[in-house]
Amino acid sequence: MDLILKDARLPGDAGASVDIGIADGRIAAIEAGLLADAEIVDAGGRLVSPGFVETHIHLDKSCILDRCSSRRGDLEEAIGEVAKAKKDFTAEDVYERGRRTIEKCLKQGTTHMRTHLEVDPVVGLRSFEGVMQLVKDYAWAIDIEICVFPQEGLLNYPGTDELMVEAMQKGGKVVGAAPYTDCDPHGQIDRVFEISREFDADIDMHLDFGTDASGLDLDYVCELTERFGRGGRVAIGHVTKLAYVDPERLAEIAGRLRDAGVALTVLPSTDLFLMGRDRDHAQTRGVTHAHTLLHHGVNCSLSTNNVLNPFTPFGDCSLLRMANLNANICHIGAADDIAECFNMITTRSARLANLHDYGLEVGKSADLVVIDGATPHAAVAELAPVLHAFKRGRRTLTRQPAELHFPNRDHA
Ligand SMILES: [Zn+2]
Repeated sequence: MDLILKDARLPGDAGASVDIGIADGRIAAIEAGLLADAEIVDAGGRLVSPGFVETHIHLDKSCILDRCSSRRGDLEEAIGEVAKAKKDFTAEDVYERGRRTIEKCLKQGTTHMRTHLEVDPVVGLRSFEGVMQLVKDYAWAIDIEICVFPQEGLLNYPGTDELMVEAMQKGGKVVGAAPYTDCDPHGQIDRVFEISREFDADIDMHLDFGTDASGLDLDYVCELTERFGRGGRVAIGHVTKLAYVDPERLAEIAGRLRDAGVALTVLPSTDLFLMGRDRDHAQTRGVTHAHTLLHHGVNCSLSTNNVLNPFTPFGDCSLLRMANLNANICHIGAADDIAECFNMITTRSARLANLHDYGLEVGKSADLVVIDGATPHAAVAELAPVLHAFKRGRRTLTRQPAELHFPNRDHA
């Protein structure tokens, strides 16, 4: 045994605390009173969870607020401003900004990440090269997989297809899409399914982003998922249009997603920032109600999406904050539902990304966080800080708990 994490409280287990033994980077034992000649880290009765899983974040275009203007603050302006800034991206510049974002994620307890990455004839593979280097240099602390996608269209933008294929050949793991910027949205979806079959890659699409729910691309995505037997390997992100359908239609759509095996990622910060701009008062929230989908058997995750750019000019990269924000926006107060917010940044995210070596089980990789709270509910409701993170059994993060200095107490 190399390490024992003592007095750990497990998510979903209200009983007594246990010790977690780690050997060769893996969880070797979970039991009370574990004794072995090993390094000891005392969790002090706090929650120990598998690390957080970011299923949808854009490293390549993070931290560019100082290069963009944001007058209207809407989606079209954000795409236009980032397209302009992208011309000057170099692999080194992407690396430097991505590094800052990854390090923030690490400090918030993220141990796994799927990063969406743009390729097109303007940026070529420069962002891809920068992020590939980050994948290697930060492998000590986080597993990062790249989802290659055409932000500015595929069929309308000659040269993009070849770059997507080249990026997949050079290490892209997942193929993505943004059909709403394409002249032929279904044509783009067809081609993305084709690439996924060529590379046996999972699919993760930006989809149905907007407020007009009269036509939904997700119907077509479900159809192709079934036709090509890709259930469990297709995810869709945003899908804000589902915030604008009535409960009966939402239940129907949920059944469709569940039966096809299509998972959904809600991106609360971006969706809140970009939606609801069609009104000048009493604005809508534009955040799809993940819990309704969960209750119908659809798998969902919550993620950060953009960090400090015109799509989302915020970002501490805290997935716990996304969980709390989601609960707050969507009127989630019941204890079980708040705990589900925690699952949507841990176990449910891992399932969406098909991370098979993940979880608090003997034999799994020891990718763990110690949180300064006792339960998943407390972690989300109180935004409890992450005090330690471990990647493959090695400690990657330590944060001291805050301490108050009372005036009239003796200090030992
Ligand atoms: Zn995105």
